[in-house]
Order: sequence, then C-alpha cells, then structure tokens
Amino acid sequence: HTTSPIAPREAVAALPAYSAGKPPQAAEGYTPYKLSSNENPLGPVPAAAQAVRDVNTLHRYPNPGAEALRAALAEHLDVPLEDIVTGAGSLGALTQLISAFAGTGNDGQRDEVIYAWRSFEAYPIVVRTAGAQDVPVPVMTDGRHDLAAMTEAVTDRTRVILLCTPNNPTGPALTHAEVTAFLESVPSHVIVVIDEAYLEFVRCADPVDALALYREHPNVVVLRTFSKAHGLAGLRVGYAIGQPTVTEHLRKVAVPFAVSAVAEAAAVASLQHLDKVHQRVQTIVQERERVVTALSQAGWTIPETQANFVWLPLGRAAVDFAQAAGAQALAVRPFDGEGVRVSIGEPEANDRFIELCRTYSGGPE
Ligand code: PMP
Repeated sequence: HTTSPIAPREAVAALPAYSAGKPPQAAEGYTPYKLSSNENPLGPVPAAAQAVRDVNTLHRYPNPGAEALRAALAEHLDVPLEDIVTGAGSLGALTQLISAFAGTGNDGQRDEVIYAWRSFEAYPIVVRTAGAQDVPVPVMTDGRHDLAAMTEAVTDRTRVILLCTPNNPTGPALTHAEVTAFLESVPSHVIVVIDEAYLEFVRCADPVDALALYREHPNVVVLRTFSKAHGLAGLRVGYAIGQPTVTEHLRKVAVPFAVSAVAEAAAVASLQHLDKVHQRVQTIVQERERVVTALSQAGWTIPETQANFVWLPLGRAAVDFAQAAGAQALAVRPFDGEGVRVSIGEPEANDRFIELCRTYSGGPE
C-alpha cells in the first residue's frame, strides 16, 4: 500500500464510514424481510405515490427552498414559514445545523457537540465532518438518555446538544417534564436539537411537546422526517423547525435544491392524507405492542420502545443473533458488543422474529 499524495482532512481520515442496514439474504423456504433500517413496511399513502408519477417538470429545478412543502407544513403545524428549513432527509437538515453552528473555532479549538450514545449512527459522522468534537454521553442501562450526565458534559466549548426521542436504537422517549428541566439546566446560547424522527409512534405519558418548547426557547430546534411514519425514506425529505435567529443560518449553508421536485410533491400529498398516515402508524404501533408482549412472555427484558423498532441488549451475542436471523432471511441491525435493533415489519416478519426470540439460546455469552 503506497502512500498517496492525496489526503483528506485529518478529521475525515479518522471517520468511520456510515454502515446502512443490510438487505436480507435469501434463505430456502423463507420470504425475505428487511428489518434493518426502521422503514415503514406499509409504504406511503397511495396519493403520495401518485403525486410522484404526476410530476411533469423533471427538466426543471425544484422550488427553491421547497416553498410549497414549507407552506403546507407551516399551515399544518401552525408555525411561520420562515421557521421551517427542509433538507434531504432530516439528516440533511441536521447536517446544515451542525455546519452552521459547530466546527473549528477561530482559535483553532474544536467546538463540542454532546449527544447520548448509543444513538443515531450518523451523529458522530456529521459532527466530526464539520470539524467539531463529538462528546458522546453513555445512555443508562434502560436505554434512556442520562440527562444529568449530559448537563455535566457541558463546557464553554459546547455549541450543540442532540436529544434523540425516541432514541434510535434503544427505543425510549423523553418526557416533556424531562426536556423542560433539561433546557433550564443548559446555557441559553447552546442549541438543543430535539430529533423526533419517530415522533408519530410515541404513545407514552407526558410526550415531549417540541413545538411548544421551540416557541418558548430560541435555542431549541426540532427535527422531523417523512422517512418513517410517512413511508417516504426513498425520497429523502425532512425538515428542521426553529426560530429565525437559527433558521436564517441553516438556509445559508443549505445545498441548493436539496429537496427534489418528486420528494416535495410526495410530501405535500402525504400531508393532505394525514388520517391515512395515522392509520398506518397505528397498525405499526399495534404490531409493536404484539411483539413487545410476546418477547416479554418469552422471558426477554428489553428497554421500553416508543418507536418502530425494538432493541435487544444482547451484548456479545449481538452478531450471533443477527446471523441466526439472517439464516431465516430476516435482515436485522447488530451493533457488535451492544445489541440488535429490529424494526417492526410485516406481520409475517414479526411472527418469524418472535419465534426466533422464543427459541434463541445461542451466542458467546
Ligand atoms: N434521526 C434519527 C434518530 C434516525 O433514526 C434517522 C434515520 N434512521 C434520521 C434522523 C434520519 O432520517 P432521514 O434523513 O431519513 O430523515
């Protein structure tokens, strides 16, 4: 391996590559199911798919700033248009936020971004790519954010804190009381992001009212997506909501036309059929409850989940379990040494997963 004169920035050289959920392997006698990316097994509402087919301006650039989608969101959420910034997925919007607010300071020191860990795999990548320092704070054994420890982690270099509720991959949601108290405990110049990618699946008591928090706190930014409840992961569309003091900077660093015309059309159509979207979400929530009950009856202890997945804290057996699932054409998401995340899928996929959990006794532990 000869040394090449071409070298990336130091922060990039040390980056782990994002590893996306794998597709299922074929296995004799099994219909394959993908339970590795928290996708919506029911897909989008038919009107959203139709809206994609109806787009007849493929030779034109899309609306700058996804104006039509932002107008629809502004009306639906009752927030001002200028408070909404769209992106290629909520990850696109998060990337804008981090690049606007955290990096390497004028003094050469890195800004710090605090997040719970384990959480969404893309957080460290986005933060380090911006040249900032990631500060992961371990989640508690029940998979919840350790908010006291996250407050403790704040320094005078902290610029952004990421809260993920429900937390991917462990599952629990934060409560409104917890986040309200947390906001009191951090300096008001630190941006607090509330990543609500799985918002629609939450059924807990005292759920976070993130829109109320953003209205009261200029440092709060809410992240939402069409990838999960709306079943539009393939189109890449999400958004951030914040006060103009924040969103004006997000707009400046945006990749122009990040939301395609087809993505915008589908998202607008999906918002016009929210009753159907919510019916689909309810079906997935009921399947989740069925899976959770069955696992508990089979003797498994797992963190409370408020999202469209469950977390099996298998430790060193994580990869072994994922292989056992793979042998039955179920793709799941192992995190070596920690656990396995399994998305709620089609009823037959969930049945097979439950049966595997009932009979599984393997693993290196
Ligand atoms: N936040 C969380 C917590 C996620 O799990 C995901 C997707 N896995 C995202 C953000 C990004 O979703 P998207 O970019 O598809 O909106």
